[in-house]
Amino acid sequence: MSEIKLGIIGGGQLGSMLSDAARKLDVKTVIYCDDLDAPAKNFCDEFIYGKYDEKEKINEFIDKVDVTTYEFENIPFETLNEINKKKPVFPKPSINRIIQHRLAEKDFVNKLNIRTTQYAAIDKKSDLDSLRDLLPGILKTTTMGYDGKGQYAIKEVEKVDTLNIDFSKGYILEKLVKLKKEISVIITRFRNNDYEIYEPIENIHEDQILKYSSIPANISENIFNQSRNWAISIAEELKFVGTLCVEFFIDRNENLYVNEIAPRVHNSGHLTINAYNVSQFENHIRAVCSLEKVSLKKLSNAKMVNLIGSQIEQYRNSNSLGDNEFFFDYLKKEVKDKRKMGHLTILIK
Ligand code: ADP
Ligand code: MG
Repeated sequence: MSEIKLGIIGGGQLGSMLSDAARKLDVKTVIYCDDLDAPAKNFCDEFIYGKYDEKEKINEFIDKVDVTTYEFENIPFETLNEINKKKPVFPKPSINRIIQHRLAEKDFVNKLNIRTTQYAAIDKKSDLDSLRDLLPGILKTTTMGYDGKGQYAIKEVEKVDTLNIDFSKGYILEKLVKLKKEISVIITRFRNNDYEIYEPIENIHEDQILKYSSIPANISENIFNQSRNWAISIAEELKFVGTLCVEFFIDRNENLYVNEIAPRVHNSGHLTINAYNVSQFENHIRAVCSLEKVSLKKLSNAKMVNLIGSQIEQYRNSNSLGDNEFFFDYLKKEVKDKRKMGHLTILIK
């Protein structure tokens, strides 16, 4: 078979790790990114710089690839749709349109009879007045948020003015879940409807940014099964092709809720690189490129630590890693506060 050229939109750490996995499978990668200093430049075979709505550059990209995927959800629907008219895009642009919008995403999940926290659309400040039942809550922009960006904790309507919120954007108000734990389930679904699923991962956030992920998750059998079943239902209903992650909340009464869906590889799944025979990245490439499916085998328990901002520095130039420790540097040009700079995975026997 002739060599496959995979286009990836987005050049951050996920694009880098996808490119790395592609190389092992002899798949060539072309990254398209709106950042000239994108980290994935260091890992891909070819790099195209352009804005995500720049028609000419996008056409140049389409000409170079056989199939396209993406590493983040905030890509204009029109762009993915245009690409999909000429070369297949996985996951399908219509899926991304649902998931890139927090309201559409929650409506979709609830239609499957899967629990989410209570929520409501907020178009103007006065909408909050009739929604006191949802307080304390979190106000989130319906689009473009990540790592807690565009989110405001709201305890009382009277205090909203002090937060200087720009109500010209669309928001969703979510009732705050009294969290006991957060977990995620990663599943890869293939074009023949078959799938491979990883065991639930336990996640700890600091300042709304993921800090630690580990397997096994310390959860009941009930939650283990329910989270897996819900992830399977979501992937099936979307007719998803590729790797998908479902983030869950568990409350203090052992109720499970879907928090959000990522239509892509996910930070909590970085430990799959070392803890499984096939990583979430390799599985994604296998699925979108229609390569052979390999049965998943867990090799080890593991813990992943995100290195945020200057935390990366002590690991660069350090020779003190143990045999069971794996350090990943995303090679981002600038060290910035609250920015994911790399991660460390520790295998636990
Ligand atoms: P992002 O797109 O930034 O990942 P999330 O909706 O996943 O946005 O929110 C980030 C984190 O903030 C969650 O993982 C959780 O720790 C906390 N959080 C968000 N929404 C809620 C909620 N409704 N109840 C409790 N905690 C929440
Ligand atoms: Mg999240």
